[in-house]
Amino acid sequence: MERYDIAIIGTGPAGVSAAITATVRNKRVLLLGSARMSDKVGKAHQVDNYPGLPHISGADFAARLKAHLDEMGIAITEKRVGAVYAMGDYYALQLDEDMVEASTVILATGVVSAKSLPGEERFLGRGVSYCATCDARLYRGKTVAVLGSAADAAEEAEFLAQVVEKVLYFPVGKAPEPKEGANLVIVRELPEAVLGEKAVTGLKTREGEHRVDGVFILRDAVQADRLVPGLRMDENHVAVDLMMRTNLPGCFACGDIAGKPYQYVKAAGQGNVAALSAVSYLAETAKAKEE
Ligand SMILES: Cc1cc2nc3c(=O)[nH]c(=O)nc-3n(C[C@H](O)[C@H](O)[C@H](O)COP(=O)(O)OP(=O)(O)OC[C@H]3O[C@@H](n4cnc5c(N)ncnc54)[C@H](O)[C@@H]3O)c2cc1C
Repeated sequence: MERYDIAIIGTGPAGVSAAITATVRNKRVLLLGSARMSDKVGKAHQVDNYPGLPHISGADFAARLKAHLDEMGIAITEKRVGAVYAMGDYYALQLDEDMVEASTVILATGVVSAKSLPGEERFLGRGVSYCATCDARLYRGKTVAVLGSAADAAEEAEFLAQVVEKVLYFPVGKAPEPKEGANLVIVRELPEAVLGEKAVTGLKTREGEHRVDGVFILRDAVQADRLVPGLRMDENHVAVDLMMRTNLPGCFACGDIAGKPYQYVKAAGQGNVAALSAVSYLAETAKAKEE
């Protein structure tokens, strides 16, 4: 399997900046995210504090980021990363049904604002999943709930309906909804808790309870320590040092996910530092192998 030097997760200002710097330093880069770049960029009415781009709209700023990548020949791989596993001297990334490998990883996934549901953490891997494509087959012949707030949640739910017995879809927020079908039902109730003993047995809503075997929570971003097992957090941010290093060697974090202030210029600056730290790490590990 081909191994990238640096996998960068996220196409907001932090991830784009990291990709630009890593490419300038001639590294083999895999940039994962969305061609729409970042909703937090696209939805800004007007940006007045990014040096050199006064009064730019969020949509124009996103277009500038994309144009910069295009100009440098940096492709975006439009895949959602389901999990990142530290394998010793490299990382394995789960992308939908594929796995890819990279010597280093830069997390630029933005901050997660949604609070966890009671039971979500307890049943993670025992009925709670964040990735329909990764885990659908585990629920063949079963009933699952989908809590959809991500832009692609409807699509994921429709895919799940092709695999499992029944999907109960709970819309959360304003994301597009899936098409109802024989085994896909939209339930307009407010999810309150994941229920179970050893594994998930149900979903409690404000209006009642539903018996389900699994709960897919499809948010735009997943808390970083659930994406990367073993990652140290500082409350809801990844704990980093000034070089954007995390507690996992070869894994770096930048932008909103690495702490406040939540600002474009800070995200872009940290993306640059993270990429240079990854470049230094690659040089150090290559040298250590030669010795
Ligand atoms: C409405 C609004 C207006 C704002 N206005 C301003 C402003 O005027 N000035 C200012 O400085 N800041 C502003 N901000 C804050 C700014 O948007 C953030 O600080 C900035 O976007 C953070 O950049 P980031 O790259 O860290 O993360 P984000 O921009 O949040 O990007 C994260 C990226 O990671 C991707 N991602 C997440 N999880 C995964 C996964 N598992 N697999 C693949 N991809 C993933 C997302 O799709 C996204 O592309 C505003 C925010 C909002 C919401």
